[in-house]
Amino acid sequence: MILRRRSLLRVLPALVRQFSCAEGTYDVVVVGGGHAGTEACAAAARLGRKTLLVTHKKSTIGEMSCNPSFGGVGKGHLMKEVDALDGVCSRICDLSGIHYKVLNVRKGPAVWGPRAQIDRKLYKKHLQNEIFNHTPNLEIIEAAVEDLMIHENGHCTGVVLENGDYVSSKTVVITTGTFLNGQINIGLDVRPAGRVGDEPSIGLAKTLERLKFRMGVLKTGTPPRIYRSSIDFSDCEKHLADMPPLPFSFINSQVWIKPEDQVPCYLTFTTPGVDKIVKENLHVNRHVSEEITGPRYCPSIESKILRFGNRAHQIWLEPEGLDSGLIYPAGLSCTLPEDLQSQLIRQVKGLENAVLARPGYGVQYDFVDPRELWPSLETKKIPGLFLAGQINGTTGYEEAAAQGIIAGMNAALQVLDREPFVIRRTEGYIGVLIDDLTTHGTNEPYRMFTSRAEFRVYLRPDNADIRLTKKGFDAGVVSNERMQVLQQTQSSLEYCEEVLQSVMLPPRKWKSLFKMPNSTSTASKSAFSLLADSSIKATVFQLRNLMPDELRCLDGTEAVWDRLVICSTYKHYEKMQTAEIEAIKKEQELVIPKNFDYNMPSLNLSMEEREKLAFSQPQTIAAASRIPGVTPSAVLRLMVYVKQKGHKAPVAARG
Ligand code: FAD
Repeated sequence: MILRRRSLLRVLPALVRQFSCAEGTYDVVVVGGGHAGTEACAAAARLGRKTLLVTHKKSTIGEMSCNPSFGGVGKGHLMKEVDALDGVCSRICDLSGIHYKVLNVRKGPAVWGPRAQIDRKLYKKHLQNEIFNHTPNLEIIEAAVEDLMIHENGHCTGVVLENGDYVSSKTVVITTGTFLNGQINIGLDVRPAGRVGDEPSIGLAKTLERLKFRMGVLKTGTPPRIYRSSIDFSDCEKHLADMPPLPFSFINSQVWIKPEDQVPCYLTFTTPGVDKIVKENLHVNRHVSEEITGPRYCPSIESKILRFGNRAHQIWLEPEGLDSGLIYPAGLSCTLPEDLQSQLIRQVKGLENAVLARPGYGVQYDFVDPRELWPSLETKKIPGLFLAGQINGTTGYEEAAAQGIIAGMNAALQVLDREPFVIRRTEGYIGVLIDDLTTHGTNEPYRMFTSRAEFRVYLRPDNADIRLTKKGFDAGVVSNERMQVLQQTQSSLEYCEEVLQSVMLPPRKWKSLFKMPNSTSTASKSAFSLLADSSIKATVFQLRNLMPDELRCLDGTEAVWDRLVICSTYKHYEKMQTAEIEAIKKEQELVIPKNFDYNMPSLNLSMEEREKLAFSQPQTIAAASRIPGVTPSAVLRLMVYVKQKGHKAPVAARG
């Protein structure tokens, strides 16, 4: 329900409060239709809540503000987890990718990074179709939110629009990305904007300040776009997509594009000419001279040259779409004046005659210190108000989507008077992301890496459905259809594993079957454990061909068979890691002795962990595990140490 009462709001706040309780109130209002906002409103709507998305322009729903790609190492894990919870972005990427490639395949599958170049127009088209036409319980309006309605009991009860209308709601999720007090700049020119072509969000930034949220300022940037026809690709390294392309979503067996129709990307490098232009023009480059922190892991070309000069830097030439005439030069984010950007790109190999279609630019924006949030992404100060996405100090579409789905779910669950949905660090990368943010905060744009996850042997992209779909189903956010897909996959995996485990042969037999030199080992091995033997690299398909009598009964899709190889590879490690997780749970009441020395080198604790533990002096392992900034692996080492030393007395017995 939208009411035109701005004047009353200003004059009679008490009257406004009455309206917030009136019939017709929305359950969840989501502010901002970016990557966090679309997941948030879709999740709240899937939970059957009456949801409203308020965003500046319907036409920018699904806009990819920067790179035309989704996924990658760590980010691909997040996408798989969002998909496991029936989120939107992975399915849409399966309908709009034009170059699918799994990154990091030389390393183990636990750290593979599913990634795809995306056709921007197709992504928007399919996402908007999903949000506009296939999301029951969701309404969408075009408007700018300027303020929040706060009940005298402190609860957020709706939003105020710039035209004076106000919308009452039981909960509100803000996902305004880079728009809070946003300013973009090229060279020395600075103007207010959330991104090019979009107004910033000033009123809402003021509201959050007024509500005394701890805020900070961050910056990021985007490269210029170049006309494809002006590039000489013959001087660049051609990189082809995977054949066949692997879908992101667990419910898809293939992606929309024919494997052979995928388009290549090209790799090229900067030359000393780029360094020269950057170094000689620092005085006309405001973004570089400012003190504000930019993305460490996706820096501008200026920062790379200033930090690591005299080096050729990689530039990936990525297509913006199947029928787009534009190329996105990843790695060339810059904020020099436009004429200098034109000169700069021509110093890159293959771009000697390149023509700029539009210049790169920087954006500076306010964010809220994510330590203001509970792990449910509800703010600690204002019950009923949730924040998700770049507003919390992260960068990237995937990080935004991952927070969006959790914030949207929790807003809806609060309305349903149910427990918040929290993913622990031991359950998913989403848990790692949110735990890192809400316990450590961030002073630079935060992005996901596999190294942030202590339990990464278990938290793999391939098993995100097994880890999270049932949990999401129990919470009500996952459809029956997806739950059925999971059940089929699980029973197929279990059946195939059982059959493969039952076929036992001595190593020499396996070696002769695979025409390998003889082994000295004599212990029999199952066909299942053979899949983990990296010297043989057997596939289920091969095994079935070599042993038709024993393995004819194997069913399952190729995707299931590929998963079996990964399951076999990680079976042992996964068992160990699951045992560690269980051990921590079991030993919650284990007592830590008084005046425990956290500086012991054998504990291998970080300085931050040592300081926090020494300061808090937790009495038990459970208490230690709740200290923000103390990781589960640190708790595990602490637990093992304390246990070895025999400190097992119950808490009550402690002096
Ligand atoms: P966004 O996708 O920004 O969406 C915010 C939405 O909120 C928009 O639709 C906006 O119209 C709406 N909105 C804002 N205020 C209001 C309001 N008051 N009322 C109603 N609607 C409102 N990520 C990377 O990983 N690597 C990069 O190199 C990178 N570079 C970037 C460069 C630029 C210039 C920009 C702008 C972003 C860049 N990003 C980069 C970040 C990436 O685009 C974001 O992390 C991601 O889009 C954040 O998603 P979000 O949903 O939080 O916000």
